[in-house]
Amino acid sequence: MNDKNSNVIVALDYNSASAANHFVDGVSPRLCKLKVGKELFTLAGPQFVKGLVDRGFDVFLDLKFHDIPNTVSKAVKVAADLGVWMTDVHASGGRRMMEDSRNVLDQCGSDMLLIAVTVLTSFAQEDLAEIGIHSTPEEQVHRLAALAQASGMDGVVSSAMEAAGLRQTLGSDFVLVTPGIRPASAGGDDQRRVVTPMQAMENGSSYLVIGRPITQSENPVETLLAINREILQD
Ligand code: C5P
Repeated sequence: MNDKNSNVIVALDYNSASAANHFVDGVSPRLCKLKVGKELFTLAGPQFVKGLVDRGFDVFLDLKFHDIPNTVSKAVKVAADLGVWMTDVHASGGRRMMEDSRNVLDQCGSDMLLIAVTVLTSFAQEDLAEIGIHSTPEEQVHRLAALAQASGMDGVVSSAMEAAGLRQTLGSDFVLVTPGIRPASAGGDDQRRVVTPMQAMENGSSYLVIGRPITQSENPVETLLAINREILQD
């Protein structure tokens, strides 16, 4: 493997910085990228994120910003200043929010990846209807992904099941980040629509977000290595 070429982003969904650090101490930037989400960020803050960046890791700061364009673009700029590799916003925040965020990054010459969440995988048809959206989740994913691309986003977060269709319509350069991955041997947890690491890559995923199958396995580092072997051809 070359430096940092693993397509696996490990979700550090730990409830303490020391538990997260225990995992991080056992891996290296070439074995995986790391995702810090709302729980760990609220607990451990930007210093923790900065610590991972300083150790050479590609960090996906997964805070799913959604607010007025001015507020979101400023938050995105702060994420870029932290040195993270990727961060995300909600595509449903609209074109101006995404375009302003892109412009802020362009102005400061940042190459941080900026991606958009389309429809949360926890949403079913009836949840969309309840908030006044009368499309299927799949139609809404495609609508928001196209808007994200037109608004200058580098990619989207989507279910690996939708990745094949998105890859076809959005082209080969668009980044597709896919959670809901389960190695064939693992259980499903609360993720409903799951695919294996290999299937996700075949569907056109760029990066696989994997949490519990790695972090809660008996030997997290061994599990990560096995997944890397499964998806990396070289
Ligand atoms: O443990 P598991 O592999 O299910 O973790 C998946 C990670 O991806 C979690 O951190 C979860 O918040 C995140 N995620 C998701 N579905 C989305 C977006 C993010 O499961 N649509």
